[in-house]
Amino acid sequence: MSPPVTAPARDRLRIAIQKSGRLADPARSLLAACGLSWRESRDRLFCFGETLPIDLLLVRDDDIPGLIADGVCDLGVVGRNVLTEAGLARSGGGAPVFREWRSLGFGGCRLALAVPDAWDWQGAQQLAGKRIATSYPALLRQWLDTQGIDANVVLLSGSVEIAPRLGQADAICDLVSSGATLVANQLKAVETLLESEAVLAGPVGEFDPVRAGLTDLLMRRMDGALRVRNSKLLMFQATRGLLPTLLPMLPDAEEPTVMQIDGEDRLALQALCHGALTWQRLEELKRAGARGLMVLPIEGMLA
Ligand code: ATP
Ligand code: ZN
Repeated sequence: MSPPVTAPARDRLRIAIQKSGRLADPARSLLAACGLSWRESRDRLFCFGETLPIDLLLVRDDDIPGLIADGVCDLGVVGRNVLTEAGLARSGGGAPVFREWRSLGFGGCRLALAVPDAWDWQGAQQLAGKRIATSYPALLRQWLDTQGIDANVVLLSGSVEIAPRLGQADAICDLVSSGATLVANQLKAVETLLESEAVLAGPVGEFDPVRAGLTDLLMRRMDGALRVRNSKLLMFQATRGLLPTLLPMLPDAEEPTVMQIDGEDRLALQALCHGALTWQRLEELKRAGARGLMVLPIEGMLA
């Protein structure tokens, strides 16, 4: 028996992304790298898909899990922090309705517990009976439960980091990337509750055949786009005898294509490298005997 179809049949796919904010531009670039383009509407809330029947809805990131759960949107690009929080808050013991389909490699941050610099941190038991300010109450409560700690969760929708200075809370649980905001507020991160990044979120259930076909096509392109995003094609020449030295120096490379160019010995190689091809690495390869080194960007890949 197949799982239930989560939304009424529709012949276009609708993807929710953040209207403005940290995830807005990278989400659009990723979808554009999958070959999608759109006609913008006047209010810039809805973008009609031109190359494929895949439309965009531009919304606040916090609304994305609910839009997927309600079947208003099919997929969404949202932080794992927001998706997990919404999942915990909605589930109430019921079956989940959305899930993470892919991690996207941008928007990296962590949900951390931070306490005033002056605290001598010895462990979660120090939080017993304390007030912790957060915009992620469900994630925080879950973590406190696993630690067996009874603390008071103070729900704030923004400016969580100043809550201790204002006397609203003793500690905070908030997103951290560089840590500069914490330092500016005389706080220090002491525990990580969740490692987060942007994810492609979608329903747990299945789509009707038309949207299932569109999501299959999109996922194949997205996997290709994600795979090549930080990859480069390295081309160079070398003599056959140098291969045992040179090949291990290629950063996270796939099996290279090797072509013989003159006589037995001289070879032209091309290798897809997923690791960083820094100037230093190119200079090392040259010193080891590689010649005519050339690094090319990759536009797309279909395995
Ligand atoms: P919206 O108006 O859409 O509600 P927002 O203020 O909630 O916007 P942003 O600050 O743009 O959202 O953050 C969006 C997401 O970016 C976060 O949910 C998180 O996944 C990610 N992110 C990455 N680094 C950070 C950071 N240092 N602080 C906050 N969010 C971060
Ligand atoms: Zn938000």
